[in-house]
Amino acid sequence: MSIVIKNLTHIYNEEMPFSSKALDDINFEIKKGDFVGIIGHTGSGKSTLIQHLNGILNPTSGSIIINDFDITKKEVNLVDIRKRVGVVFQYPEYQLFEETIEKDISFGPINLNLSEEEVHLRVKESMNAVGLDYEKFKDKSPFDLSGGQKRRVAIAGVISMNPEVLILDEPTAGLDPGGRNEIFELIKTLHKEKNMTIILSSHSMDDMAKLVNTLIVMNKGRVEFIGTPREIFNNHGKRLEEIGLDIPQVLELKHKLKERGIDIGDVLTIKEAKDKILEIMKGNR
Ligand code: ADP
Ligand code: MG
Repeated sequence: MSIVIKNLTHIYNEEMPFSSKALDDINFEIKKGDFVGIIGHTGSGKSTLIQHLNGILNPTSGSIIINDFDITKKEVNLVDIRKRVGVVFQYPEYQLFEETIEKDISFGPINLNLSEEEVHLRVKESMNAVGLDYEKFKDKSPFDLSGGQKRRVAIAGVISMNPEVLILDEPTAGLDPGGRNEIFELIKTLHKEKNMTIILSSHSMDDMAKLVNTLIVMNKGRVEFIGTPREIFNNHGKRLEEIGLDIPQVLELKHKLKERGIDIGDVLTIKEAKDKILEIMKGNR
């Protein structure tokens, strides 16, 4: 499973006076098993990009090639693509609508025309995967849950389709720190244990630094940088701030120390910074 984006441009309301170019010549490739973060300021094009990856939006120009098939071509069956590429939209809990959690999560698998038995199994498995006990939660209303739990139901609804690629648009938006950590832990587990390819968008640099292997930095509809978080944060901190992104707190610390003549080198996590600082202190003694 690979996703190749070639010269992707998207213009909303083309040929209208208020048309706007939301994506401008985007190019990148995602391979099976990747853990990719799309980061960018509000309006940079993250959601527009994500909605192209399973055919919800059509490009103005360019191509989206999934496993050697260009999904922008008419003859491609989008239902097949959507089985393999699952998207969890921003604030997915607004799309919960059934009276019980079980019914809500069943919706996708039922539409795949699976047997009753298979649907039941998928619901149980996906509730298990998101950490909701089947017996305890199946008959509850999704509306009686906490924000983080509702979001987990929405994610279960997508993973019940057994996608190979799971895409989440700002999955932690609006959650408190506890709820955010729950969702990030869940996403990490899905990547590790279910071997899913993960693509998520966020504007929290701290979270992205800890999670993903590859970062795609968006700015005004263009890709500004692609690389590992370590490369990007350590080499392009200044530019990230210029385009309205906060650099991870640990890098702010690194820069402050540097101003005082202490160079802790390339760091990405608090622990790495701590170890480096201790090492330097030892050397100075
Ligand atoms: P992000 O998800 O990074 O906040 P979006 O993809 O939502 O960015 O938006 C990118 C640009 O496209 C913005 O300038 C936004 O105003 C514009 N845009 C988004 N959705 C629409 C739409 N349905 N119609 C017209 N313009 C849109
Ligand atoms: Mg968005």
